[in-house]
Amino acid sequence: MFDAIVVGAGPAGATAALVMAGAGARVLVVDRAVRPRAGGSSLLSTSARTMLATLGVSVPPASHHVRACPVTSARTGRSRLVELDATIVARDRLDEAIVASAAAAGARIERGWFVRRPLVAERAIVRGVDMRRGAMRLRIPALVVVAADGARSSLVRAAGLAAGTVRHRTWSTLLDTPDRPATAELFLGRRGWCRLLPADGGVRFVLSTPQTIAPRDALTAARALGPVLARRLDGSRVIEPWHRTRARTVSRAGVPGLLLAGDAAGVGSAAGDGIAAAIAGGLLAARVALRTIETGSLDGSLDELAAARAMWIDPALDVGRRLDRLIGADDVVSMALAVAGAARRRAEELVRHWAAWPGRLESLVHRGAMMDVPRT
Ligand SMILES: Cc1cc2nc3c(=O)[nH]c(=O)nc-3n(C[C@H](O)[C@H](O)[C@H](O)COP(=O)(O)OP(=O)(O)OC[C@H]3O[C@@H](n4cnc5c(N)ncnc54)[C@H](O)[C@@H]3O)c2cc1C
Repeated sequence: MFDAIVVGAGPAGATAALVMAGAGARVLVVDRAVRPRAGGSSLLSTSARTMLATLGVSVPPASHHVRACPVTSARTGRSRLVELDATIVARDRLDEAIVASAAAAGARIERGWFVRRPLVAERAIVRGVDMRRGAMRLRIPALVVVAADGARSSLVRAAGLAAGTVRHRTWSTLLDTPDRPATAELFLGRRGWCRLLPADGGVRFVLSTPQTIAPRDALTAARALGPVLARRLDGSRVIEPWHRTRARTVSRAGVPGLLLAGDAAGVGSAAGDGIAAAIAGGLLAARVALRTIETGSLDGSLDELAAARAMWIDPALDVGRRLDRLIGADDVVSMALAVAGAARRRAEELVRHWAAWPGRLESLVHRGAMMDVPRT
């Protein structure tokens, strides 16, 4: 029997698996995809890099460094420069690096399995998962399950934890554009925001909007945010299939035996520090899961996870949420200023928060390594 099953090998799941396996737990990681999501480029913040370095994950080399991001009104072109200290990395290589560290720590990685639902035992306690690959179906028991299966989590739905969806849908693709950005750029309009990132082979385009649009209309919808952005996108051509996401909110941090991590635990917006939040979510879920494995008791585990998430993760997602709220504002310049100010204050706060992590992590991993994990 496994001590823990982690569903999802994205940043949240792979981090949870790395910490638990490093502490001596028997961990199975299951992902429906046969390989990490290909093609995307992600902005990796200082917070995310700090946590990965502390965990001993070798982050893939950055294709670009982002020291400042212009935040521009898509309508008037007024712009403010927001200071950042971020890098752009290939997303599949980042995910694979964390998974490789988890495997090196002893986690077993199984790809190509779709987890359908949690296995629910007596007193409504989750004790494993029901998963399938083609016609093959397996029911795998475990003391604790970490649901890190992303924004459309099957486990969240099956456990009745889905509370709603956020207003905005996010559309992303790779563009071939004559005017390649040298850094990250953010354009704001009344009906959404658009981010451009330099990427291998083109420009990573992300549009977040509350409008209901067909994928083929996403570029047109971005151009409609304002003439300045329309001109910026002149001559652009979509060179990758569209990827659409809609973030969900959840009612609780899990149910007994099932702990949520990463996007499965609810996110605000792709403008937030999603990867850092996912890594932190994986760490917090791992810490709570290790205590359950160590003591055999689920008492207080969900309250502990909820309190830790409120302290460490909600602030990181706040910039994205603010941005979503501000999009409805009439005065796009004040909106840009507010976002710039909020982002800078939040970044300073985050650096202070994460500066405290290395010590915490060392004590967490040390305590885990010292404990006697029960073998059932
Ligand atoms: C368009 C877009 C752009 C973004 N850009 C950035 C950025 O630049 N920087 C940043 O920090 N954040 C960014 N984010 C946010 C960031 O990508 C997410 O917050 C982060 O990936 C969440 O990690 P996760 O591990 O929770 O989930 P995911 O990365 O989504 O991983 C979930 C994993 O679970 C697997 N899975 C799903 N369902 C099942 C199932 N039923 N059974 C088995 N496996 C399953 C999937 O295959 C996947 O591997 C962006 C988000 C979007 C939508």
